[in-house]
Amino acid sequence: MSPADLPALGLAELQALFRRREVSPREALEALHVRIAEVEPRIEAYLSLDFEDALAQAERADVNLPLGGVPIAIKDIISVAGQPCTCASKILRNYRAHYDATVVGKLKAAGAIPFGKTNMDEFAMGASTENSSVKRTRNPWDLSRVPGGSSGGSAAAVAADAAFGALGTDTGGSIRQPAALSGVVGLKPTYGRVSRFGLVAFASSLEQAGPLTKTVRDAALLLNAIAGPDPRDSTCLHDSVPDYSANLGRELRGIRLGLPREYLTEGIDSQVRTALDQAVAQFTSLGAEIVDVSLPHTEYAIASYYLIASAEASANLARFDGVRYGHRAENPLNLLDLYGRTRAEGFGPEVKRRIILGTYVLSSGYYEAYYARAQKVRTLIRRDFAEAFAKVDALLSPTSPVPAFPLGERSADPLQMYLADIFTNAANLAGICGISFPGGFATTQAGTRLPIGLQLLGKALDEGQILQIAYAYEQSTDWHKERPPLRAQKTSSANL
Ligand code: GLN
Repeated sequence: MSPADLPALGLAELQALFRRREVSPREALEALHVRIAEVEPRIEAYLSLDFEDALAQAERADVNLPLGGVPIAIKDIISVAGQPCTCASKILRNYRAHYDATVVGKLKAAGAIPFGKTNMDEFAMGASTENSSVKRTRNPWDLSRVPGGSSGGSAAAVAADAAFGALGTDTGGSIRQPAALSGVVGLKPTYGRVSRFGLVAFASSLEQAGPLTKTVRDAALLLNAIAGPDPRDSTCLHDSVPDYSANLGRELRGIRLGLPREYLTEGIDSQVRTALDQAVAQFTSLGAEIVDVSLPHTEYAIASYYLIASAEASANLARFDGVRYGHRAENPLNLLDLYGRTRAEGFGPEVKRRIILGTYVLSSGYYEAYYARAQKVRTLIRRDFAEAFAKVDALLSPTSPVPAFPLGERSADPLQMYLADIFTNAANLAGICGISFPGGFATTQAGTRLPIGLQLLGKALDEGQILQIAYAYEQSTDWHKERPPLRAQKTSSANL
């Protein structure tokens, strides 16, 4: 295989070549480096790269380990020892992590090579990556559109073959929604399945790290590596980790898939709706049974998510005070002036909006009316899912009501941006798992093809099941084989 073709591979394919000694980790890393240099000016997915360190790791790689020698891109909210960890915020502009997050330690133990940090919405607050204080990542399918967010750098890098696979984080949809908009696979694990130690905290009761990959099998491989108990994260579950690849290939006969009635209402783009209808037919032909279900409190999910997430953010982000981390205002008059100006200069508008909202809903007099009520709604949403999962094995929906939207279209209107999570954030409130995978294409008026993502939600700790169902769909369709024009141009010129 010519080096120029290597970046198009997924993790499992790359590893097979390593193990047959047809390609070395060094060659793969060099090919990736060339590819990144070629596409990065157009997509701007990375905030930092360290190929020198990665090459040293590649030289020592043991290809017999589960991810031996495989380079993995890491969202810039996850600590990798010695590398920058900026959360795309000015307040952490010069900060480097002093230790590995548990997920990164586990990846390294499995032989993987973290080589670069990907762009994101500042502190993971957003759904388009436009809230990055550094740059705007573009969607590889249409450079005038967003890649989704907040893990938009990871999604765009994987979609454009500028990464073999990546880690993101999902607080309300930030792995699944960019995966959908960029045409890749993204999995949000059950709350507590994966350690949060070493992630910069945004909303601690909601978020999980997880994989963004080219295939469902690759998502299972990455999850195998990062899941499991961690004595350094007390919210991490003690349950043992099954082999998530084990059920891939099992047939779907007897599987019951619920279609949540409340997700099929107004606001869904007609081409997204058509893709869902086709998926329903496809799942039926694969032997699954489709069942109508209700999640009656769906309409309150967005409101309760943004209250709870902002409340937690306001507490978590209090640590950025100019004393311990990153940016510090110059010539402070006194301590209060230091805090005030450091934070005014360091945080972007969306982060400030959430800190203000979060502080407000936690303040005495408003706590009961907003925060406590949002927590009660959260319980009702959890209950909705428990009742649905008593009838079905998993829930099927679009991941996003619309395909990738144009850069700038929603950035001035926070409420429009918040609505991007309408099908994803209830899963975080309930702590269950979810996966987004390619399920078709929409065509714009200009004739551009944009990926559509489908979402499967599963019970807590049922990642094996949603992976199995998504895999069966993926193997029976060709959507995941399609490549953005960035890549098509490359392959055709390489073939000449
Ligand atoms: N878009 C949601 C938000 O802005 C989700 C973000 C995330 O999952 N990190 O909070």
